[in-house]
Amino acid sequence: MDLTRAAAEALDAADPLASFRERFTGTGDDGPERLIYLDGNSLGRLPRETPAALARVVEQQWGEGLVGSWAGWIGEATRLGDALADGVLGARPGEVLVADSTSVNLYKLLMAGARARPGRDVLVCTADDFPTDRYVVGGVAEARGMTVRELPADLDEGLDPATLAAALDERVAVVVLSLVAYRSGALADLAAVTRLVHDAGALVLWDLSHAVGAVPVQLAAADADLAVGCTYKYLNGGPGAPAFLYVRRDLQAQLRSPIQGWFGQRDQFAMGPVYEPAEGIERFGVGTPPVLGMAAVEVGARLTAEAGVDRLATKGSAMAELIVALGDAWLAPHGISLASPRDPARRGSHVTFAHPQAWQLTQALVDRGVVPDFRTPDRVRLGPAPLYTRFVDVWDGMSRFRDVLAEGAQESYPAERARVT
Ligand SMILES: *Cc1c(COP(=O)(O)O)cnc(C)c1O
Repeated sequence: MDLTRAAAEALDAADPLASFRERFTGTGDDGPERLIYLDGNSLGRLPRETPAALARVVEQQWGEGLVGSWAGWIGEATRLGDALADGVLGARPGEVLVADSTSVNLYKLLMAGARARPGRDVLVCTADDFPTDRYVVGGVAEARGMTVRELPADLDEGLDPATLAAALDERVAVVVLSLVAYRSGALADLAAVTRLVHDAGALVLWDLSHAVGAVPVQLAAADADLAVGCTYKYLNGGPGAPAFLYVRRDLQAQLRSPIQGWFGQRDQFAMGPVYEPAEGIERFGVGTPPVLGMAAVEVGARLTAEAGVDRLATKGSAMAELIVALGDAWLAPHGISLASPRDPARRGSHVTFAHPQAWQLTQALVDRGVVPDFRTPDRVRLGPAPLYTRFVDVWDGMSRFRDVLAEGAQESYPAERARVT
């Protein structure tokens, strides 16, 4: 691979997604001192259209339309769910709902899934999954008197399918797994793992938070059972944006939400005496949806669908390859090692490095205008979101990373973390 800056510029010149960059705020500065944002997988950038979209909902729909605007808002959670299903999730109409947070959706679908497998008393997850996922699994197990099988997963390589296969038996009700591991970016095989879990008679609940908008996701083709995910990462829905949930069509009638809210009720405005779940995906709704948050999600989801997940994944993978190659050439001599799968086919769109002073390095990088993410125990995570990050941004960010290491700039930063982000 040609590791010159000119080669990175050539990749940008040939990038079919190049024009999307200017549709995000904060991308106008091309100077050498500009901010290089490599944390789009934690909080995506603000699309330029979003403030106006929010202002329309606030000033016209809320300000002028008042309560009458509910006529339009009421169907938004399923309309936006269908858009996500079609544009980024490879799911069918009526299989996706936008609601609540990822954590809450995980709880709802895990409780529902466990209840749909009576006689089975084990939940499976990995010891290295995102904290909220493990906490929710533990809480559901406790509430239902179940046991958790927490499988060892390599911090860098992710879960070995053989480890999962060995843990599956007739006691397992639901397996919870991230498609892309939040720390290393390790990518699981959606279809193969789903098959493996189905062969054991269990359900699989996928967390797509670090996958959606970054790697191709074909839920219907994989026959996936259940899924949840964030919209504020690669989908650029903004801080606290509502999450999505997916339930395969033929499973919906068997599954009941553990939270019997009126937004999951059949014939909601009949205000009937007892809860009776709605027919389709609406049964997984709970309460009044966050209308403003959904307006922002809609813009982000539309941009992602317009760019096309396949093209985003191709560019994301190429940027990750550049990071890996520059890491080998520039960072490895300073004692940094790759903490993500080396095989691009086994990786999402982010790349992680390990170094004993990862926290100090993260601080030094931020002070030099490069925004990565620190991850425990000793990792620096780089997430160049393909919608608005250029190859030269990756190149310049890595070159600033090399300078920090060459100068030992991290030495002057505190090793103690005052605040974990
Ligand atoms: C980001 C992320 C979450 C966040 O959940 P919230 O309920 O939105 O706070 C959950 N799971 C995974 C795997 C994530 O990456």
